Amino acid sequence: MNGCSRYCTFCIVPYVRGNEASRNPESIIREVELAVQEGYKEVTLLGQIIDLYGRDLRPRMTFDQLLKKVSSIKGLERLRFLTSHPKYMSKDIIDTVAENPNICEFFHLPLQSGNDEILHKNE
Ligand code: SF4
Repeated sequence: MNGCSRYCTFCIVPYVRGNEASRNPESIIREVELAVQEGYKEVTLLGQIIDLYGRDLRPRMTFDQLLKKVSSIKGLERLRFLTSHPKYMSKDIIDTVAENPNICEFFHLPLQSGNDEILHKNE
């Protein structure tokens, strides 16, 4: 995925990368298949809030559906993804990680200070 549509107060991402846009699943799968054919063992899927993957596609799809498709690529030994957001992480994503041995049990979550004094220092 590229971009982000959340416009959090201190973040530049939407201004430099644009709004959230999911890559076409076929192009992702093709790219991973080629990487595996070239000998790559591990692939990481990237998105600012990767849990939201696919909601802008027509037809829509969900990130756990993409994970299942990519993890089924023969020869792919390890699959990771980042970044997840606690608000959008779904049980379907967690179940997909649990059910597919080549998806690493690894969750990358953004945690930032909730301390008012620290946040005011950036004003
Ligand atoms: S969700 Fe993350 S990437 Fe998107 S605007 Fe907020 S801090 Fe930036």
